[in-house]
Amino acid sequence: DSLKLTSPGVINKIVREYNFRFSKGLGQNFLADENILNKIINSAMLVPGDRVLEIGAGIGTLTREISSRAEKVVAVEIDKDLIPILEENLKGRENIQIINGDILKLNLRELEKIYFGGKPFKVIANLPYYITTPIIMTLLEEGLNLQLMVFTLQKEVAERLTASPGTKAYGALTVAVNYYCHCEIISTVSRNVFFPKPGVDSAIIRLKMRQTPPVEVTDPELFFDIIKTVFKYRRKTLLNALSKDSSIIGKKNRLESFLLSTGINPARRGETLSIEEFARISNGIKGCQL
Ligand code: SAM
Repeated sequence: DSLKLTSPGVINKIVREYNFRFSKGLGQNFLADENILNKIINSAMLVPGDRVLEIGAGIGTLTREISSRAEKVVAVEIDKDLIPILEENLKGRENIQIINGDILKLNLRELEKIYFGGKPFKVIANLPYYITTPIIMTLLEEGLNLQLMVFTLQKEVAERLTASPGTKAYGALTVAVNYYCHCEIISTVSRNVFFPKPGVDSAIIRLKMRQTPPVEVTDPELFFDIIKTVFKYRRKTLLNALSKDSSIIGKKNRLESFLLSTGINPARRGETLSIEEFARISNGIKGCQL
């Protein structure tokens, strides 16, 4: 328990001892910097009663710190070769549950019920970069009792999550995530603090779940469907992009007058629309029998 898991020497020693081979495909870049470790943990604002899900535990660097400050940690790790290392590094800590599994395949509703008794929980993860977006969207769409999430992820993705309408980084992910939570970049993180060093820089981001959505949406499925269509054809005008939506095909004239009636210029590019404007369109489009 006294080993400093952020020390490159210690990481090397563990790797040699267990004959562990890093998998690039699984996004295995372990945190090797004490300051960044503290920054990640502090961003989660942990208090003693907290329940935490950690995704991609690696050799347990974050897990150990979380376990010292929270009531319960469930640490999911896909690579079975890391499980004996995790068991050794986290030995004697009674509040940690290690699960060998794929976060995208686990039944998270079950997991929440079994380990957290259905109570609110936090998520902390130094994410495997090849599946950043699916992990975030899965967590948000499962209807879990989430409180707050702290992720270390690609800087470019962090910029997408906090982008403003009309910018290049603004997209379907921006609107979807901001519908569910308030996003805040805590700090950028150099690629040099990971071992082995990844090809991109990172950022720590905090997502606080909203009590109520920032806009009222009468049909969330339609709302997200429209957002997807609009960004799929982001270079087209709103009118042309929306005409591609399966529910609208063949009704372009009526669509145009509908957009005008909501006060949104059909010639605008869809990627300039705010979340509020997406809500206005999806709420109105049904009522006008398009
Ligand atoms: N938390 C450790 C740290 O900060 O040093 C490791 C972070 S590393 C960037 C990402 C971890 O996620 C790796 O240990 C990798 O094996 C694991 N991982 C990759 N895909 C996963 C998946 N689908 N489900 C669960 N864990 C996964």
